[in-house]
Parts: sequence; structure tokens; C-alpha cells
Amino acid sequence: MARAILHGIPVASGIAVGKAFFLNHRPVAIPHTLVRLDQVEEEAARLEKAITAVAEEFATARAALPQPLQGQTDLIDSHLLICRDPKLGGEALRRIREHRMNAEWAMEESVAGLAETFNRIDSPYIRDRIQDVRVVADRICGRLAAPVAETAAQGGKGILLAHDLTPADTFSLSPQSLVAFATTQGGKTSHTGILARNLQIPAVVGVSGLEEDIRAGDLLVVDGLRGRILVGPSETELAAYLEIGEQFAAYQKRVRAAAALPAETEDGRRIAVLANIENAAEAEHVRAAGGEGVGLVRTEFGYITRKTLPDEEELYREYARIAAALAPHRVTFRTLDVGADKLFSERKNLDEPNPALGMRAIRYCLRHQDIFRTQLKAILRASAHGNVALMFPLISGLEELRQAKSILNEARQELDAAHIFFDPHVPVGIMIELPSAVMIADALAREADFFSIGTNDLIQYFLGVDRGNRHVAHMHQPLHPAVIRAIKYVVDMAHKVGIAVCVCGEMAADPHCLPVLLGMAVDELSVSPQSIAPIKHLIRRSHVEENRNLLHHALSAGTYRSINAMIRHAVYSRFPEDMSFFISSLDADG
Ligand code: PEP
Ligand code: MG
Repeated sequence: MARAILHGIPVASGIAVGKAFFLNHRPVAIPHTLVRLDQVEEEAARLEKAITAVAEEFATARAALPQPLQGQTDLIDSHLLICRDPKLGGEALRRIREHRMNAEWAMEESVAGLAETFNRIDSPYIRDRIQDVRVVADRICGRLAAPVAETAAQGGKGILLAHDLTPADTFSLSPQSLVAFATTQGGKTSHTGILARNLQIPAVVGVSGLEEDIRAGDLLVVDGLRGRILVGPSETELAAYLEIGEQFAAYQKRVRAAAALPAETEDGRRIAVLANIENAAEAEHVRAAGGEGVGLVRTEFGYITRKTLPDEEELYREYARIAAALAPHRVTFRTLDVGADKLFSERKNLDEPNPALGMRAIRYCLRHQDIFRTQLKAILRASAHGNVALMFPLISGLEELRQAKSILNEARQELDAAHIFFDPHVPVGIMIELPSAVMIADALAREADFFSIGTNDLIQYFLGVDRGNRHVAHMHQPLHPAVIRAIKYVVDMAHKVGIAVCVCGEMAADPHCLPVLLGMAVDELSVSPQSIAPIKHLIRRSHVEENRNLLHHALSAGTYRSINAMIRHAVYSRFPEDMSFFISSLDADG
């Protein structure tokens, strides 16, 4: 028997076996002590050694970036620069020597000094770069606390364990030496899962006991299908999981072989299955994965991974590459969706008590119109290289849509005046992610060219359940009757005026949600590239009429538990061999 079995929320499928290692994070409490005069130089040397070790970690991570993340070394480069910057390390060394502070304390004070300087800077973007300084300083303090790196590099491939992982963290790791992730924090649709899926490794988040029950170097099995972690598995358990892992790999291979076939139901309804991507490197693989275009480019990742704001030219080159890679298929660029847990992680939002309800997505862009206009011009220019659409995230009402469109018009005029070519008919859609947008979907449908339903946020805001909070993850129910009714209403209002509806949240890749989405006649599903082939495979074996009946019953059901039971029965009867290879979104409850 395993020494312990921990439970969490599975967010990226697959089975992995490997040794545990912890992300060297800042120790919870920074020690404050005065060092003896004769130990000052020793303390300074301790800090210098930690700085060098962390710089080496960043350099190794940079060299080992895997294919999908290549071309995104900016963030690591900036971390390296900060690591070597005398304003951080040099200042801390001065405090050790002059004030006899211990290294951690000196580092903390040095960051506080820099934070004051950054605070006086006008540009909010540059002001926020203090967070990169904090990331680096935390790493150095983590290394001071645990001088021997508990990294996978010491013994082959490893399973990364962390309290939490921000998008920035993942860019400063060595993904090639990782076989899985697990974190204490995180919910069903937190961005850790999105990143793990892009790296195509299993991940479990919201794991209780992760930091207490696992020691660095422990052998672990991560079951990304059922959300379990076995600590010190027995030989029998190990053999059983390796067998499941092989079956999973064989299933993936089988469905991928048919990835190019269209997703047409048994009764002849065709659904477009598109990809959710973050950058041009990923775009190159969408066709091979079976994607019929890109339904969501999460453009914010091109900002998060950099130190400075990208200019129009850089954005244009990246977007044009994506558009060209997919032409003549459609690529839908979502305008910058920063805020909440993207770009401004919790510490970056100290002045925002409630970041998910704060200055994020379209609100941020309407506040920082220069940044917005630059991006809009780059997207418009990319339309010269392919079939481009754009959409605005987190629209709450007509005012925002109209204001965003008017800035888009200004961007068009500026390009016209400069005689720069672009497609004047680029479709302009919106993401439906807020209850207010659902309630006025009829009005919005008259002013948008298409809808894309972001179910991750829609469920968060509809049910009042933080998508990244493990304590309420069991309440994040995609088949809650309120969610089903909301989506149905949005689809009906869109179809009434003849515009298409895509679903691009995680719900689109969930086999349990497929029957209701097909029953509503959603036009497109946009999922992570690795989910394209499996979801197409299930659609080809679905029957719309049958799903319409299921939807009809679901719409009149009172509780998500009764809907879950009905749907579970339906999908297990229709796809008996497939369901064990998918993450079960219904396991958490009901
Ligand atoms: C969503 O909210 O469902 C969505 C697709 O956007 P993101 O996950 O990037 O917020
Ligand atoms: Mg969203």
C-alpha cells in the first residue's frame, strides 16, 4: 500500500510516475536576525552563493524551454537580469555589511526599497514589474532557506510540487525535466491546468496534504484522470498505474489517428472543433491535432511573459504568423485579458481587494487605451495574412461593446491613413462571461458578429464560485441548471439573429457537457489542442436528436445532482470504453 493517497482536482489528464521536487519558494516566515561582526562576510557569501545558484537555475530553464514555449524567453531573461542587478543583490549585500542584517532580511529590505521607487513610476505596466523583482527575491530567499536545490535535475524527470503556480513561475521552470504538476491551491479552471495541458503533462491542483505528506525525493504516482497522488506506491500499485498509463497512451494514439476526420454526428450535424492557443509556436501544431481553426488566442500570454510592453510591430509579426499558419481557417484573437490571476497575481493586486471583480480584461483595455489600440492595430494588420476575427473579453453591457468598437474604428482609421492594408471586414465578437451579458444577449447579439461563451468565467460569475479556489471547487458545476439555462438562452438569442456561437471554456472539452451543448446546437467548440481529437471522436459517435431530449430533461430539472446523474448515465451508456480516459468533471460532487 502507498504511504499516503492524496486527493485533489484533476486538471490535465494522464498518468505520471516520478520523484517529487518542490518549487523553491520564499519561506513562509523571513527570519530577522543580526549577524555577529565576525560573521558578516560569511553571511554576504551565503547570499552571493544563493544569487548565483538561482541565476544558474534561470539559465538552465531558459536553455530547456520546450517547443511550445520557444520564442518566449523574455520573462526568464528579465529574471536573469534582475538576479544580476546590483540594485537588488548589491543593495542587500550593503545592508548585510553596514547593518549586520541576515541575508533574508537584507533581501526583504532591498525589495521594499525598490518597491517604493517603482511606486513613484507613472506607467502602471512598469510599476507592476516590481512583481518580477519579488519573484526573483522569493526564489533567492527560498534558496537561502534550502541551500541544496530540490530539483529534478538531480535525478531525471520529476513531479513539480508547489503551493501555487503562477503563469510566470511556469516560464522559469525546466519543463523538459517535468512529468507532472501538483499544487495545493487551484480550482477546476485555474490557469495552472491550462498551462499543464499546453505542456501535455498530467496535473492535479487543490491537493490537501501536499506540503505535509510529501518529502522531496519521494516516489509519486500522479493520476491526472482521477485527481489522486500516491506517495510511495507499492509495487502492485505502481504496476497497475503503469498499465493505466499505457492504456491511456494507446487510446490517445488511436483517437489522434482519426483527428483529421470532421466532427459530424451520427445524424449528420457538423460541429467545428477549434483550438485554444497562446502563441505562434502552438499554432503550427493545430492542424496536425485536427483543429479546424483557432477559436481563442489567449493573447495576454504574449504580455505576461515579457518585461516590457510589446510594440505594434512585434505583436503584428506574432499574430500574422498565427493567421498564416491556419489560413484559410479562421483565427479568433481575444484582446488582452489581463487582471485577476493573469499578469497581476494576487500580490500584484494589493490595491485591488477583489481582483476577479476588478480592473481586468476589457475594463483594463478601456482604461489603458494606448495599450488597447496598439494591440487592435496589430490584430487588424494580421488579417492581411489569413482569416482573422477578434473578440472582446468580459463584456458586461452595450456601453463597453460600443466603446471598444469605437476604439477599433479609430485603429482602422489610423491604419487607413498610413496606407497599411488590412481586411475591413474582420468579424468582431464578444465573450459571454458575465450574468449581465447573458441577460441582455438579445441586445448584444444585434451588435456583435459572433458570441464565444467563456464558461470558466461564466460559471465563476454565475454561481459566485472562484474558479481558482479549491475550497469551493465542488460548487463549480458546469451542469448546474442555472448554467445550462444561461447558455441555452445565449445560443437561442444568437441564432435568432443568425450569428454563430462558440464555447471556448473548459466545458467544451468535457464529455459530460457535450450532450447538452450538442442538444443546444452550439456551432463551434474551442478546446486545448490535445483535447481536439478526443472530443471529435465523441462527437462522431453522438446523436443530436438524443441529446436534444437530454437537454429538454436537464432544462426542467431542479438540481445539478439530478442532471449530473442523468448525464453520467447517458454518457457512460453511449461511450462505455472512452469515459475512463477523460477527466470526470462530475466526480467532485453529485
Ligand atoms: C473562459 O473564461 O472560459 C475563457 C475561455 O477564458 P479564460 O479561461 O482565459 O479566462
Ligand atoms: Mg475568461
